[in-house]
Amino acid sequence: MHIDMDAFFASVEQRDRPECRCQPVVVGALPGNRGVVSTCSYEARAYGIRSAMPIAEAYRRCPDAIFLQPNMQHYTEASQLVMATLETFSPVVEQVSVDEAYLDITGVTRLFGSAEEIARKVKAAIWRETELACSVGVGSNRLIAKLASEHDKPDGLTVVPPDQVESFLDPMSVSNLRGVGPKTLKTIQRLGIRNVQQLRGYALEALQHYFGEKMAESLFRQARGLASDHVGVRRRRTSISKETTFRQDIVDLQRLRSTCRRLAADVGRSLRGEGLKGQVVSIKIRLSGFETHTRQRRLEAADDRDSTLFKVAWDLFQVSGYMGKPIRLIGLGVSDWGDNSGTNMDLFSEEPASDREQRLYSMMDEASVRFGKGVISLGIPEKKTE
Ligand SMILES: [Mg+2]
Repeated sequence: MHIDMDAFFASVEQRDRPECRCQPVVVGALPGNRGVVSTCSYEARAYGIRSAMPIAEAYRRCPDAIFLQPNMQHYTEASQLVMATLETFSPVVEQVSVDEAYLDITGVTRLFGSAEEIARKVKAAIWRETELACSVGVGSNRLIAKLASEHDKPDGLTVVPPDQVESFLDPMSVSNLRGVGPKTLKTIQRLGIRNVQQLRGYALEALQHYFGEKMAESLFRQARGLASDHVGVRRRRTSISKETTFRQDIVDLQRLRSTCRRLAADVGRSLRGEGLKGQVVSIKIRLSGFETHTRQRRLEAADDRDSTLFKVAWDLFQVSGYMGKPIRLIGLGVSDWGDNSGTNMDLFSEEPASDREQRLYSMMDEASVRFGKGVISLGIPEKKTE
């Protein structure tokens, strides 16, 4: 079962502020500032406002909307209540973001009834505890459950029995499938594939020809409704880091700098892959012998961008006092996930990640899946004197 809260941040605001009920509510940056829409109410969606839209555009579409800055603490509290409610139905709850979770109900049907009855009870319990609506999807694996919860938003309940998986998928746009980015979609369109049924008509070899090995396999499997059914109570990692040991100790700044860039790209890609943003960037420097030092800095807002990681890491290195010493190993790590992990909250920081920048990163990440990591990285200007 996949549970997805409807317009989560906006719904919490509508619940807590009577003046927001039945009104277009836009949570995100405030008009007049840079930044984007994080979540908007369904009333706001009627004006064409969407998540990740620049706030100026949202304002143009509906100047009378209620614009609010996010209150993460309220959202986190509501989220914890939702997750605790889910745990009363099954011990196997996998929270995937602040407003989404998978629930394994394989073993609890005797206790709570059919899948559909359980879904109904889950929705009712969440409403009772939080006064928030959610959409629930039930399927034989993660993909189907997730697509089912998306199928009938808001306040939806969709059960896809195993023998109806293909007929459920058939009319669906390929863009609904997981991991389908703009590049893949372009090829899909070029091939004239309009839905999953047509996609299923392509042999694996043909897909490999157009999409590369990994994406082809993913499309092939998804078109058949094949996916993992594992629901894990996932222990979240507390940090993500990469390091490089040099064969010979290095003094050359250009080389250290480009290594640092590569590490930033690797860590950034892992962060985005797991939907995490970190608030602390650290570096590790090992000198000749095993003398090891670390330096770290807290960011103003959680971030997952290569450019930020690199900037901070290189800056830390420059002020570390170890510039010019022979270096054996250099490492870059990110930790302390912000409350905003998995959402677009860093878009409200002083230097918001623009839409364009987000698209750029998702294209880069897609390219690295298709063609191998490091095939594309950000061009961060080389400076001569540092
Ligand atoms: Mg949601």
